[in-house]
Amino acid sequence: MTPSPAISYYRATATPYAPYAPLESRQEVRVAVIGGGFAGLNTALGLAERGLRDVVLLEREQIGHGASGRNGGFVFAGYSLGEQSLLDQLGETRARALFTRTIEGVHRIRRRVADYAIACDAVDQGVIWANWFRDPDVLRSRQRLLAERYGVTWQWLPETELRERIHSTRYHDGLFERDALHLHPLNYAIGLAGAAAGQGVRIHEHSGVRRLQREGGRWRVQTAHGEVLAEQVVLACGGYLAGLERRIDRAILPIATYVMVTEPLGERLAGCLDTNAAIYDTRFAFDYYRPLPDTRLLWGGRISVLDRAPGAVQRLLRRDLLRVFPQLGDVRIDYAWSGLMSYARHQMPQIGGREDGLWWAQAFGGHGLSSTCAAGELLAAAIAESDPAWREFTDYGLAPTYRPLGFLGAQAAYWRAEWQDWLKTRLEG
Ligand SMILES: Cc1cc2nc3c(=O)[nH]c(=O)nc-3n(C[C@H](O)[C@H](O)[C@H](O)COP(=O)(O)OP(=O)(O)OC[C@H]3O[C@@H](n4cnc5c(N)ncnc54)[C@H](O)[C@@H]3O)c2cc1C
Repeated sequence: MTPSPAISYYRATATPYAPYAPLESRQEVRVAVIGGGFAGLNTALGLAERGLRDVVLLEREQIGHGASGRNGGFVFAGYSLGEQSLLDQLGETRARALFTRTIEGVHRIRRRVADYAIACDAVDQGVIWANWFRDPDVLRSRQRLLAERYGVTWQWLPETELRERIHSTRYHDGLFERDALHLHPLNYAIGLAGAAAGQGVRIHEHSGVRRLQREGGRWRVQTAHGEVLAEQVVLACGGYLAGLERRIDRAILPIATYVMVTEPLGERLAGCLDTNAAIYDTRFAFDYYRPLPDTRLLWGGRISVLDRAPGAVQRLLRRDLLRVFPQLGDVRIDYAWSGLMSYARHQMPQIGGREDGLWWAQAFGGHGLSSTCAAGELLAAAIAESDPAWREFTDYGLAPTYRPLGFLGAQAAYWRAEWQDWLKTRLEG
């Protein structure tokens, strides 16, 4: 039987767990975390690991309902903002410090998956950045920049070697980021929730926060059937806007990106890939893909202001897949879905807090696995230990994105970059 394309592969293969009951009482806590994606879960777990037991996490739908349960599953260092821009904006010392936070994020994810025995199909075999273009300069300059300014080594993969690993004539040379992995993100989120709950965090699903008010020195956090009085609140709602604090919501542009999963390919997978690494390419609007344990290929790409239906996602992505692997012409697509990333105008995460105990962690863009882990640590340390390290992110504030006009700007910028990629491809013949 053909699986329903209406649900994601991740949801179809999610680790079963006893659902967390909706909030139906009045609770007084030290910290209320709003949003059950990686940003909220990492913060709650970070708090629990620091000994805070008095923490509630409220999720509007289910754990991992947002981008965290729908993404490509690439765990790698860095931010949506490129390394050169980070350097230009902050100078070497501060740029390197922020970049290092995400390297530590990768290491922490690896450790947590092992320590909490999170069953999430983690494949610790690196990520390949494959060059769509003939011009090797884009690879050389990034490799040099990472080595000289960030102390990070990405291995050169000459075209012949790359083609032994990826059986496509589409690419030329590549870079191999060894210190990276890929995993089933929804099961990783479910595992984080289990780890947090196991250390006392009270999690409530189907508990969308409708109102957030400052009252008598505390925060009143109201859902449909309950409320929480909290000393501190962390807003971590990503592109699935919370609608609670205007300034925080307005700083986000929710941008869609798409994923599909093929039928199990069996031996045909070896006709495409001789690597377990995850792969993406050097275009602005790159494809990203990885083999799954049951020999399916998970394929993602495109960026749009439109959150498309599964049928449309499948049609668009199938075309992209066949440009790289024409040998999969007749392949069946079993799942297709879209998800919303949250972007700030400056393309960096917004991690911050106010005197009155309101904190936020959002705008992780398309690089959210390691950076949400870093954010969770920073906010947990700030709340539990008054650690000021979160201030490293104060340059990247809550600048408004001017929706809906901001959507037009983002789509125009995307089309321009896509056109430049297309032109460069044509000129190279
Ligand atoms: C298709 C796709 C592919 C991606 N691929 C990668 C990748 O391979 N590697 C990578 O590093 N990053 C990737 N990303 C980015 C990454 O997934 C995100 O940056 C990250 O998951 C953001 O986590 P978050 O917790 O900020 O937001 P989300 O995961 O979106 O979580 C926000 C949560 O808040 C909840 N919420 C909203 N409002 C309320 C409310 N009022 N009350 C209670 N709860 C509320 C939502 O239901 C949601 O569950 C991808 C993203 C997408 C969409």
